[in-house]
Amino acid sequence: MEVATLHNMPYNTGWIEVVCGCMYSGKTEELIRRLRRAQIAKQKVMIFKPRIDNRYSADQIVSHSEQALPSTVVDKPIEILALAKDAQVVGVDECQFFTYDIVQVCEELASQGKRVIVAGLDQDYRGKPFEPIPQLLALAEYITKTLAICMVCGNPADRTQRITDQHERVVVGARGVYEARCRKCFVPPTAD
Ligand code: ADP
Ligand code: MG
Ligand code: ZN
Repeated sequence: MEVATLHNMPYNTGWIEVVCGCMYSGKTEELIRRLRRAQIAKQKVMIFKPRIDNRYSADQIVSHSEQALPSTVVDKPIEILALAKDAQVVGVDECQFFTYDIVQVCEELASQGKRVIVAGLDQDYRGKPFEPIPQLLALAEYITKTLAICMVCGNPADRTQRITDQHERVVVGARGVYEARCRKCFVPPTAD
């Protein structure tokens, strides 16, 4: 459920929205869409991403469809608290690359009355829940699961298939490293 579709809009309070799904499912596009609309509403918006995600740009969040918004790179979630002091709306992309402290930071920001919108992968390349997204899902008021298109059969896809032979949990990459797959076409890695 997306907050903007509700008739009963939150008033005078903060909250957390999570946008999660596999790679290419449109998480960053959806985050950008919500943040742009907040900017149009003249709200003060700040956007953060972890330093590890340097695929396209150091100072922007960028979708696979090449939409972009300026962002601030942080090493540790705790930095967001000070940087977002004056923001009304806080966006965080690639949340799965942050440590668990991101959960406490999002809770604190929402308690301060801010709208917090986080996006991230909900499963790793093995199809296992990707912390800290499950924790954020449990604590968020509004959650959205985005689906991609399965590159094998064209069905809605919720898994990220790694198509290289690498076994670290975090291998940053996109085309040529990962593709979206549905439940039926996803092949879990065998070596680990
Ligand atoms: P995410 O942040 O979830 O990885 P993005 O918002 O960056 O996704 O990109 C979504 C865009 O990726 C889509 O609008 C589409 O243009 C493109 N795309 C590429 N491959 C796929 C796929 N298999 N399924 C859906 N969209 C795809
Ligand atoms: Mg993304
Ligand atoms: Zn499929």
